[in-house]
Amino acid sequence: MSLFLVQTDNESDTEALGARLAAATRGQALIVFLCGELGAGKTTLARGFLRGLGHTGPVKSPTFTLVEPYPLAPRPVFHFDLYRLSAASELEDLGMRDYLDGHSVLLIEWPERGAQGRIVPDVEVHIQARDGGRRELRFSARGRLGTELLEGLRHFY
Ligand code: ADP
Ligand code: MG
Repeated sequence: MSLFLVQTDNESDTEALGARLAAATRGQALIVFLCGELGAGKTTLARGFLRGLGHTGPVKSPTFTLVEPYPLAPRPVFHFDLYRLSAASELEDLGMRDYLDGHSVLLIEWPERGAQGRIVPDVEVHIQARDGGRRELRFSARGRLGTELLEGLRHFY
């Protein structure tokens, strides 16, 4: 398992980190778990990731719809927020199986609400708030793809 620890000082730093993460994927399909308390910066990181891939519109946590699709090139990105998932079986209703087609990028906030143990991520990000606007982001990778991704991300720092 490969680890990468980084701190950001403000929201735009975290967005920039998300864009770098997107660049490091080099167009590959993957699954990212985004963990941390409300307000930690999960959506901010996802927004940076999406903007990095050329998305120009708003990016909000899909708290009520649970998933928001972004038809980007070279791959579609699906941004999940499972905070309000009431039962893990609801994942099936969401069509989660279809998203796990190996051709998409999945960014999943609150994976502990139903995805953990069912879906194996390539990268897990744990975000913790520190003093002021500082955030500590701990990236851990599983498997070859995740490990390569973190190596690519390290090159930006
Ligand atoms: P989450 O999705 O984890 O609930 P959001 O990304 O929606 O969190 O919100 C993060 C909040 O924290 C935003 O209001 C943002 O402005 C603020 N913030 C302050 N410092 C940072 C930072 N370093 N990185 C990300 N967000 C930050
Ligand atoms: Mg969020």
